[in-house]
Amino acid sequence: MRNGLSKDLIARVLGGAPKYTLEELEAKFPPRQLKEGAFVTRFAPSPTGFMHIGNLYGALIDYKLAQQSGGVFMLRIEDTDTKREVSGVVEVVKNAMANFGFKYNNDEKYGPYYQSKRKDIYHSVAAYLLEKGLAYPCFLKAEEMDEIRKKQTSAGFATGIYGEWARDRNLTDDEIIAHLDNGEVPSIRLYSNGNPENRIYCKDSVRGSISFPENNEDLVLIKSNDGLPTYHFAHLVDDHFMRTTHVVRGEEWLPSLPLHYQLFRTMGWTPPLYIHTSTLDKIDSETGKQRKMSKRKDPECNVDFFLQEGWPTESVIEYLGNILASGYEDAKMKGAVKNYWEYEMKPKKIPMSGALFDMKKLEWWAKEYIATMSVPDLVKSVVDWAGVYGNDDNKKQVENIDYLTSILSIERDNPKRIRKDFITWQQTLKEIAPFFDFLFTPNREYEYNIDALREFLAGFNESDDKDSWWQKIVYTAEKLGLKPGEVAMNLRVAMLGRTNTPDLYSVMQVLGGKRVRDRISMII
Ligand code: GLU
Repeated sequence: MRNGLSKDLIARVLGGAPKYTLEELEAKFPPRQLKEGAFVTRFAPSPTGFMHIGNLYGALIDYKLAQQSGGVFMLRIEDTDTKREVSGVVEVVKNAMANFGFKYNNDEKYGPYYQSKRKDIYHSVAAYLLEKGLAYPCFLKAEEMDEIRKKQTSAGFATGIYGEWARDRNLTDDEIIAHLDNGEVPSIRLYSNGNPENRIYCKDSVRGSISFPENNEDLVLIKSNDGLPTYHFAHLVDDHFMRTTHVVRGEEWLPSLPLHYQLFRTMGWTPPLYIHTSTLDKIDSETGKQRKMSKRKDPECNVDFFLQEGWPTESVIEYLGNILASGYEDAKMKGAVKNYWEYEMKPKKIPMSGALFDMKKLEWWAKEYIATMSVPDLVKSVVDWAGVYGNDDNKKQVENIDYLTSILSIERDNPKRIRKDFITWQQTLKEIAPFFDFLFTPNREYEYNIDALREFLAGFNESDDKDSWWQKIVYTAEKLGLKPGEVAMNLRVAMLGRTNTPDLYSVMQVLGGKRVRDRISMII
């Protein structure tokens, strides 16, 4: 601890008098009145790039913990890194929240939820620390810090601003005033009392108790260039005053945990419980080895990819949920739960390392999910997707809802034999493209039995029921010395240009008499 600064000096150092005392902040953001055991969580992305699938994974844990405990889930935008901010990312995040079904409860009482709008609050807490001698203004310039780093490196010391390297930690009031009079704007640094020879015990809900050397660095709390807080300080202040109970964040934050514990102790506040999630890995298609997902190589790294391709968002959630709690697949297949929201996730089961994200597995979840949808829901999903992300052809495909509905109804009436070839909305429209005349091209490669097609066409009547229709195929086959399957295959290819189609009778019914005749006529 050092001497505290006077109120006047604090106002000069911070560029204005603090708006609140600590007591006022405590009263402004009182503990939440929630039932025992309710989790208060937040998804706190920094809008510095696209939204990573790992962010969605973390947000799912946050959301699920709050949802299943009757707690609160917040969305907090950590926009304090003004230099790295990318415009439009907040919209991407909000769009993803809406599409993946994460409803956040940003009660105004605990806001604002953009860190850039909480400067008053951070400055008020910084003022308290300055007054108590637990923080100090530091006037070191970038070049001076570079110098220090060089000296430390060549002498084999740990780098950073700590102990005797922290030039300004014991400046007198007069010295501070001299710097200020000189027009210099300080950063505010923690006055660290930690000693790396001692260990600090921290808790991670997944990893248990972990000990680290105490932190002795005088880390920056408020930056000099824009007066905004660093992540460390913002997290301390926000998670305390938003009354967060559980902080779910990427494992890259684990090394900062001793500092965060130190900050909470310095304030005399109880730290939240931490859950550090492992990165999502994938199996590299070239090497066959497990590796971290890469922004550059893997399009599925970007959450927007799933929306653009029209993956059923529920299936992405189910798959991520199953990575989090591997018992989910079993519970779902047994019918014990309908969806992931009904399944209880236990924080202790969250994987500690190398969780694997495999697109092939996701395909399975998507097919299974689509197979359980009602036709109207399926139609709506496809239409909604086409409206936002589809190309011109996709948009045209969904113009005639009745026709689209009849196509998507094929092989969906028998619950035991639901077709499972739809994976994404984009792929669904591609799969059914040949039903649309403007997208259909007859297959000219196939070696048709023209006589079979002619014979069938002569007797074709679209009002035939399935039995009579089949009898006509059998009759045609017998007459020409073929197998019924061969005749059907000729028709299949003539109808949709492929050898593999859903139930042929239904296909022909949906196409309707005119199209059936036209398509056979194009071949014969
Ligand atoms: N803004 C931080 C990040 O995106 C959030 C970490 C946290 O959730 O506390 O990594």
